[in-house]
Amino acid sequence: MAEGGHYDIVILGGGSGGYACALRAAEFGKRVALIEKDKVGGTCLHRGCIPTKALLHAAEIADSSRESEKFGIRTSFEGIEMPAVLSYQQGVVERLWKGLQGTIAGRKIDTIYGDGKLVSPTAVMVNGETYTGDHVVLATGSVPRSLPGLELDGNRVITSDEALTLDRVPSKAVILGGGVIGVEFASVWRSFGAEVTIVEMAPQLLPLEEEASAKVLQRVFRRRGIGFELSTPFQSVSYTDSGVQVTLGNGKQLDAEILLVAVGRGPVSANLGYEENGVSLTRGFVNVDPLCQTAVPTISAVGDLIAIPEIAHPQLAHVGFAEGIMVAERLGGLDVRPIDYDGVPRITYSDPEVASVGITSAQAAARGINVVEVNYPLGGNGRSVILQTQGQAKVIAEAPATPGGQPGRVLGIHLVGSRVGELIAEAQLIYNWDAEPDDVAALIHPHPTQSEIIGEAHLALAGKPLHFHN
Ligand SMILES: Cc1cc2nc3c(=O)[nH]c(=O)nc-3n(C[C@H](O)[C@H](O)[C@H](O)COP(=O)(O)OP(=O)(O)OC[C@H]3O[C@@H](n4cnc5c(N)ncnc54)[C@H](O)[C@@H]3O)c2cc1C
Repeated sequence: MAEGGHYDIVILGGGSGGYACALRAAEFGKRVALIEKDKVGGTCLHRGCIPTKALLHAAEIADSSRESEKFGIRTSFEGIEMPAVLSYQQGVVERLWKGLQGTIAGRKIDTIYGDGKLVSPTAVMVNGETYTGDHVVLATGSVPRSLPGLELDGNRVITSDEALTLDRVPSKAVILGGGVIGVEFASVWRSFGAEVTIVEMAPQLLPLEEEASAKVLQRVFRRRGIGFELSTPFQSVSYTDSGVQVTLGNGKQLDAEILLVAVGRGPVSANLGYEENGVSLTRGFVNVDPLCQTAVPTISAVGDLIAIPEIAHPQLAHVGFAEGIMVAERLGGLDVRPIDYDGVPRITYSDPEVASVGITSAQAAARGINVVEVNYPLGGNGRSVILQTQGQAKVIAEAPATPGGQPGRVLGIHLVGSRVGELIAEAQLIYNWDAEPDDVAALIHPHPTQSEIIGEAHLALAGKPLHFHN
């Protein structure tokens, strides 16, 4: 461990945004100090992406073993042993964590463990030592938040942090918030045998996703026995002998063992010296421009912590990676471009998965863009029928400039169904390379794969449908 000293770049926070910045900066030969109060890898590796996806994988296995009979395979599902599930989950996290520590050390980055505080526009204090840098990058991330008056006790009223380490399956759970985190936990707990109800203020689950995708998700969730109350505000929660009673704005009362509060994540910026050193905040988020520069020339900020004017900034690990890399490249003297946040791929890893890139039909209408759209059902896709999954691929493109002409740029791709998350990588290339349906229609997709739904939807939009009927 280094003791004080001067660096080219001092990074406060070793999560996705901070460590990506450190790794890329080191490639430019920069001397980097990475300051972390807990574990490198941050929320994503220890309390977010990775442990949730491990639980979701275990949930998929539970469902497969329950439903194996329909494929002619006899198994018996005997139950969920949560300590064993958690040990598998922890094994995955530990392995990746070890790998990450090795990668960071291999790039000769100094990792300093301790609670850091910005003490000047070029210095961070940790464990009584001052680390100065030509540039400081703030990457302190986010933590779960609650609603005014809703106390989290970490036992019966919990957040995703506690839900990830719960050593039992709750018999009944109410989940407040039908965003990505709420929907993923609903999916896991239902597969593990819990009764689950999601309470969501907006008129659909996954309020930021395409309405057509949310409708499919809702239909499948209903069939899986996952309840949800939409357009419904939370009112209050009280403790009962066996758990909690949740009262909703529509007067309904729901009894449950656990209330999971999944209403979003707030920035970690309080008492860290940010404002005192000239960094401006909005509701605790650090204000930056599209190149992640704060108003202080020597300070940048990345990841869940930031707010950018006019942009709904997504709190995603790969957004943190991209911003960290962009800042490192800017400081390394490269000519960098702002990120197109519409072009960031998004996945909810529930069963079924929901994945998207680009804009929704509603956003196209709000921006006054004339579009053409196609919905290709998974029922027409061989691989999806083999997997026995339902869903669809919706593709939105600019309407043809002339009557009878070809559609213009692809503006949005919205997928629902088992495993469709893996398909969004191709979808994001289509969107981010400004492809038109006719360009994609010319590309061959392997048969039988689910990727054919991308090919088929574009063939249909280009006016040459193959396996498609309305
Ligand atoms: C349940 C859940 C599931 C998720 N699933 C996904 C997913 O599937 N895909 C996806 O892309 N995203 C997912 N996310 C979001 C993702 O985890 C975050 O977007 C990402 O971790 C943000 O990275 P960050 O570097 O901005 O912040 P963080 O990962 O929060 O890292 C910040 C780091 O700073 C450290 N720190 C804070 N204050 C100090 C201080 N004063 N001194 C020193 N260190 C400090 C913290 O300890 C932490 O390690 C999920 C999040 C949750 C909660």
